[in-house]
Amino acid sequence: MAEVDLHLHTTISDGRLTPEQLVHLVARRGLRVVAVSDHDITDGLEAAWNAAEEYPQLTILPGVELSTDIPGNEIHVLGYCINYRAADFQAALKRFRDSRVGRAQGMVERLRALGMPVDWERVQQIAGEGAIGRPHIARAMLERGYISRLSEAFDNYIGRNGVAYVEREKQSPEEAIQLIIKAGGVPVLAHPAHLNNISETIDELKAAGLEGMEVFYAEYSHTMIEHLKGIALQNDLLPCGGSDYHANDTPREPIPGDNGPPLWVADRVMEIALERGGVLR
Ligand code: AMP
Ligand code: FE
Ligand code: FE
Ligand code: ZN
Repeated sequence: MAEVDLHLHTTISDGRLTPEQLVHLVARRGLRVVAVSDHDITDGLEAAWNAAEEYPQLTILPGVELSTDIPGNEIHVLGYCINYRAADFQAALKRFRDSRVGRAQGMVERLRALGMPVDWERVQQIAGEGAIGRPHIARAMLERGYISRLSEAFDNYIGRNGVAYVEREKQSPEEAIQLIIKAGGVPVLAHPAHLNNISETIDELKAAGLEGMEVFYAEYSHTMIEHLKGIALQNDLLPCGGSDYHANDTPREPIPGDNGPPLWVADRVMEIALERGGVLR
């Protein structure tokens, strides 16, 4: 069991537990430091902190996960301890979320053309108030019986190479890193195992200001984690990580606390943020 989990989602983006439910779960699991890292939105933080008041041993760091593109692949960048109240940072998140809506509509349109109509209203209902994403479309497809598992939606239809896939508005990882740094946050490369030229990519992102990379990613094998640990050490990057929990309740879904970085990593993240104008709350 880990004491730290720096990668968690809630109903505010594509997770299935509310911030409150997530906080009760991580507290029950004995976690000491966690980050709520929803996609393109920070609106779940307040509720999470309120729920955490009954758990004085638990620290919740502000986080966010930004989606970016490189040729032929997608890179997610996590940002921790951002001064999320900064108006220009929130304006950027709002832009990303607005572009998610048009993109999701585009995918729903393509599915209709492929003979798999899902109601746009239903997708919006599943997504709720926060950031809409492909998992919400996948759940609507599941309800309609077009697929039997969430991952099938990604494998066959709305994954990067799927027939109903629509690209997002392009953003480079360097831009995302800059945005996070400008708001006082600590940028960390999410789940890097899918990258083809990991060393090259890390060189570039490190030059742009990257401070860490996910190593203790709960879904990764022991061998992969050891491999990534070596890369982080070599590049002087903080070995971060967590469960990337969405509460999908799929068979092998990692649970918060299954794996995560040691406490010193979370301490260092907080230290770096405080040196550059970030916030812990
Ligand atoms: P989006 O934010 O709309 O680009 O959708 C990306 C999200 O879809 C990720 O954050 C995951 O939560 C989810 N996702 C990606 N691939 C899969 C998959 N194979 N099975 C289930 N969920 C996935
Ligand atoms: Fe997600
Ligand atoms: Fe991600
Ligand atoms: Zn995530």
